Amino acid sequence: MNKIPFVTKEQVAEIAKSYPTPFYLYDEEAIRANARELYEAFSWNPGFKEFFAVKATPNPYLLQILREEGCGVDCSSYTELLLSEAAGFGNGEIMFSSNETPVGEFTKARELGAYINLDDVTHIPFLQKECGIPETVCMRYNPGGIYELENGIMDNPGDAKYGCTEAQMVEGYQKLLALGVKNFGIHSFLVSNTIAEDYYPTLARTLFTLAVRLKEKTGAHIAFINLSGGIGIPYRPEDEKVNIKRVGEAVRKVYEEVLVPAGMGDVALFTELGRYMMGPYGILVTKAIHEKHIYKEYIGVDACAVNLMRPAMYRAYHHITVLGKENAPADCLYDVVGSLCENNDKFAIDRKLPKIEIGDYLVIHDAGAHGYAMGYNYNGKLKCAELLWKPGGKVQMIRRAEQPKDYFATFDFSDMMKPYLS
Ligand SMILES: *Cc1c(COP(=O)(O)O)cnc(C)c1O
Repeated sequence: MNKIPFVTKEQVAEIAKSYPTPFYLYDEEAIRANARELYEAFSWNPGFKEFFAVKATPNPYLLQILREEGCGVDCSSYTELLLSEAAGFGNGEIMFSSNETPVGEFTKARELGAYINLDDVTHIPFLQKECGIPETVCMRYNPGGIYELENGIMDNPGDAKYGCTEAQMVEGYQKLLALGVKNFGIHSFLVSNTIAEDYYPTLARTLFTLAVRLKEKTGAHIAFINLSGGIGIPYRPEDEKVNIKRVGEAVRKVYEEVLVPAGMGDVALFTELGRYMMGPYGILVTKAIHEKHIYKEYIGVDACAVNLMRPAMYRAYHHITVLGKENAPADCLYDVVGSLCENNDKFAIDRKLPKIEIGDYLVIHDAGAHGYAMGYNYNGKLKCAELLWKPGGKVQMIRRAEQPKDYFATFDFSDMMKPYLS
């Protein structure tokens, strides 16, 4: 199956008149439709709420769109809390799933009425000392060992720094009960970017059975269970999109089998998806500006790993479409590369693509999550703009491109740098 971008060559050429490439472009209608599908799939659970992982796409305009679709946000830092506050998220709409939390952040989270998700039992006195213990507290669980799904080993939680053991969950709940906590949550994030549809149902069984044991051992009222993030997207054309309706139904079965008989049919389910909510609906648009024929064939583009780091960092696959050549035969073999002085700055290696001419627009797919957000400024490269493709084809700038003055902003105390700061 081919991946067809949501914009044409002509539309991109028009946008590029106002916003030079490279830029990110997000498809508002598709973001909304996907969010609605998720809510539909879990509508059997009255308390269901998705807390979008802000780290995936930290743009307040996109956060607002999700808020309009009923989503909350998941934050894990002070600035993510500020962004969420700016986008209008308040009481009960923020999950604060931090780890190794710096001093001061729990205070801000509490001020915003966020759910506090403690990464460890030792965070209880830390939280108490800093800003007191709220009425509702969540704790993050790590089952240890190896996490296996039907099609094999998925990850190695025993090696992960997150969460605490079951014994520590019990100890934590007891301490929190003694401190007056009324409602409890359970959270766990075990596998990242999986399109295996049994991930959520398997995790649900792990957490639901844990919830029953915690309730029996401590008497705590468990108000919600947070299945967290991790549902993947079809980066490769041959991958299939997770059927979220089927996943929702499978989780429902486990809920009815484990929680309902234990008298826990009032537990709300939360998710903290990032990639699944936004990944497929953002593209990075870039232009071919150089070609090079040495031991391999290279196409140099005006974006680089600063704009999208996943290929350089994990050798992640991102599909590429040459606009205007959607149906042309892919009979050339290219490395598509950026301008960093780093040989890993390659969006594609040995990729079969239609013949590329200088000036062609390339769409790098599935960049909507963990794309712009991971960007950095190596080589003094500046980050690009983010644009929103609105229903009807209007374009709204939702973040301007960086300018040199942004790169130098932290020298604002310096006379030497003053000429470059305006
Ligand atoms: C990163 C993260 C998420 C989102 O992960 P995705 O893979 O984007 O779904 C959710 N919760 C926590 C705590 C995270 O760290």
